[in-house]
Amino acid sequence: MDIKLGLMIVGVAYCMVYFFDSFFKSCAHYPYIKFLEGTGLKIGLFNLQWTTTAFNRSLLRFGNIRSNTKFLKVWFSIGLIASLILLPIAILLLIYSLVQNFVSSNENNLITPVIPGINLPASEILFYSATLIICSVLHELGHALAAVKEDVQVLNIGVTVFYILPVAYVNLNSENLKSIDPWKRLKILTAGIWHNLLLSFVCYLAYLSLPAILSIAFNTGKGVAIYEASKMSPLIGLKGLEIGDMITKINDCEVKTENTWVDCLHSVNKMNGMCFDPDAVRELDETSILRHLSSGLVECCEETKKGNVCFEFVDKDGSILELPSHVCLPAKTIMSKSEYYCSKIDHKCPKGSHCFIPQLNGSHLFKIRALNKPNIFYMGLTDDFLRTLRVSPYIPKFYFKTPVFAETIRKMLEYITIISLGLAIINVVPCFYMDGQHIISTLLYLSLSKSMNGDRLLLLSSMICLIFTALLIVHCVLTMWPFIF
Ligand SMILES: [Zn+2]
Repeated sequence: MDIKLGLMIVGVAYCMVYFFDSFFKSCAHYPYIKFLEGTGLKIGLFNLQWTTTAFNRSLLRFGNIRSNTKFLKVWFSIGLIASLILLPIAILLLIYSLVQNFVSSNENNLITPVIPGINLPASEILFYSATLIICSVLHELGHALAAVKEDVQVLNIGVTVFYILPVAYVNLNSENLKSIDPWKRLKILTAGIWHNLLLSFVCYLAYLSLPAILSIAFNTGKGVAIYEASKMSPLIGLKGLEIGDMITKINDCEVKTENTWVDCLHSVNKMNGMCFDPDAVRELDETSILRHLSSGLVECCEETKKGNVCFEFVDKDGSILELPSHVCLPAKTIMSKSEYYCSKIDHKCPKGSHCFIPQLNGSHLFKIRALNKPNIFYMGLTDDFLRTLRVSPYIPKFYFKTPVFAETIRKMLEYITIISLGLAIINVVPCFYMDGQHIISTLLYLSLSKSMNGDRLLLLSSMICLIFTALLIVHCVLTMWPFIF
């Protein structure tokens, strides 16, 4: 289903649910109100909230097992150290990213907010939503476990879905939290950041070792498989490529990975000539009258012969002159006879063959070798491949026919690595509504409570948060500006 249509249906469903919710509440419909209370559901305009206390007992039990208590003590102490190291780094990164807006292009900005449909393809919204729920659940689980460890009451946990973007949350007893030792409080406050850091790291390791993990079902380093193609792609279709095709060679360039795929396509721009046997050329030549085109190229084929291409004969020594300077040849037939490639500058060919350059304005001739398929010949642009096809280095061994499964896992790991790290960085910065707000006020209390009273400390931490919140907002606006306008 089209993603926009899907989002519209969700929007209509939200409006209907909101209407019925308001209606039943306005007439104090008892079974409905009882249902909301029983399930912990709250319905807002384009958002849903679900709260539960069902996990409180399990959390408490887990946190109070003696071996777990020791482990959690070490675990969240490391988390505190990691978060305190991250704090100055995150502040510097934010300032650096803000400065980057003024001195370089936005594309290279280290901290960039991502909004599906604006600077993230709307089609990837499911990856984004799944990542948000995984990152936020792990983050909140950190706060909850650390709170249980420090005897702070967990009131409830829940999930808020903003349209289709889910975010988990945990409510702690704030009086409990304020009354405990500041270092213990810091462990609870930094636990979410610590879990995000760790999640990012684990997913990054999994991302790096994915070829080994998936080696049971997928080969890597042996070619690329097509796993996505735009509807407009001239390469897909009758006698062309198909989704799942595994490409191993383009002209004489071996394709092994995604990088070599791009390199091979670009190499065709330079090595655009082919080495032909003079006998085959004589046999297939269909040259008509030579015409000099405004582009500087020469046309020697009749317009009616669509599959024919005019080639210029170039020879380093100029010794063989039995062949005309331009020959019109059926491209597919002559290409299937040729295995060697050359360029106009360095037209080296094996003995007995000579270099011929196709007279094409910007286009090139491609011979694509795909596994279990006859060679595919294509005349067009390098960009036709790069812009309309997406390839994967994961070649299915058996069962899977396309690399979609491997690519889905890879993309998910990419998303979690980047977004989880981003959440850790943004959360530790002293901004309002972030963990950083409470972390900085606790740190100020620990370092300045002897020389400053509570009101002054509150004022100082509010000032710091105000400055960094303003910096973050300015940075987000500057980064998103080119995408919106
Ligand atoms: Zn948090």
